[in-house]
Amino acid sequence: MSSHTLLDNFQITANSSTPFDSQTFDQYVMSTYSRLPIAISQGKGCYLWDTDGKRYLDFVAGIAACTLGHAHPTLVQAISEQIQKLHHVSNLYYIPEQGALAQWLVEHSCADRAFFCNSGAEANEAAIKLARKYAHTVLGVEYPVILTADASFHGRTLATITATGQPKYQKNFDPLPGGFGYVPYNDIAAIEQAIETHQQGNQQVIAILLEPLQGEGGVHPGDLEYFLRLRNICNEKGILLILDEVQVGVGRSGKYWGYENLGIEPDIFTSAKGLAGGIPMGAMLCKNFCDVFDSGDHASTFGGNPLVSAVALAVLTALEQQNLLSNAIARGEQLRRHLRAIALDFPETFTQVRGWGLINGLQINAESELTSVQVVKAAMEQGLLIVPAGPKVLRFIPPLIVSEKEVEEAAEKLENALKAV
Ligand SMILES: *Cc1c(COP(=O)(O)O)cnc(C)c1O
Repeated sequence: MSSHTLLDNFQITANSSTPFDSQTFDQYVMSTYSRLPIAISQGKGCYLWDTDGKRYLDFVAGIAACTLGHAHPTLVQAISEQIQKLHHVSNLYYIPEQGALAQWLVEHSCADRAFFCNSGAEANEAAIKLARKYAHTVLGVEYPVILTADASFHGRTLATITATGQPKYQKNFDPLPGGFGYVPYNDIAAIEQAIETHQQGNQQVIAILLEPLQGEGGVHPGDLEYFLRLRNICNEKGILLILDEVQVGVGRSGKYWGYENLGIEPDIFTSAKGLAGGIPMGAMLCKNFCDVFDSGDHASTFGGNPLVSAVALAVLTALEQQNLLSNAIARGEQLRRHLRAIALDFPETFTQVRGWGLINGLQINAESELTSVQVVKAAMEQGLLIVPAGPKVLRFIPPLIVSEKEVEEAAEKLENALKAV
């Protein structure tokens, strides 16, 4: 069956005879999320349909994961072909698809080699382990420290909530692993001070882990001057610069990698969310220090299996062949123009528009009563899905295939939502 046939046969099968029952869902699924009261059952391109058949324009993309949107022919074809051939064998054997994916990633980044896992948190865990082993075996450091930023987000495992500079994610999960320190983001004096302070306490800062643009923490882009100076400090002191590209990498910023917007290269970077277009995959990439990991040092049963590797390679090839980087730049500019106009229409409510490519944030005035969740709910009523980045920031992260018309439609729906709240 060709991918065309699949899409031609596409039908919205809203099933009103058996409506979705959220009470039964909540009876069986742990309540770790405060879910919005809709159940999504189908998607195509940048649109989603709930179980009642209502249509939404999707500016969330599964939290920056659905790079090619939903039911994209490239994705459907890659999955269909690979699942019929081979889907999983484990890393006990060579996996040709994984090798091809690693080669693409190395040829399109500063990295020398890749390690594959299944999520952003796992990719950051791998980076933390690599940095620590480097500190012990290459530098001979007894108590290595990794600095991270306030308001950062690096995942939900014990090590990555510790790396995450937001106490709300750590509360009640202690004892947490040691070896982390925190600094304000985009503040070079604070980094210099922290390196100094740890040294006096017989600890040594061996790595700095940062997002090129803080996503969950409120869509705060990294400062160019800050990252240039940080790169120099890391070079001078032999500190590893680790960038968490989980949200902003894979074309979302309008470049393949977020660091390309900052004019520097990291020693290690991590990727996940958009990497396989919404099929779970994580990766840790590094240059120069790849040999620090020996066989047996780190592993993942599913990491880089044939299915997900083939899908990721198809997504990355589509980025290249379907001009999605330039689309991300153009649609991002178009969206920010609209967001600035909206901010001017509601000057009491909004203070700033921030972002790169297709990751953008609209800052709600701290003085305003309005919360991001209220706007998200009002937008949902209008048929537009957006997501908060904290209590006072609206985040816009559509699929990278989003069209000019869809951006216009999103702006219109957002304006209607704002008139309603
Ligand atoms: C989402 C995110 C993570 C965690 O990824 P998971 O796949 O949920 O484990 C880590 N870092 C950043 C920057 C993220 O946005």
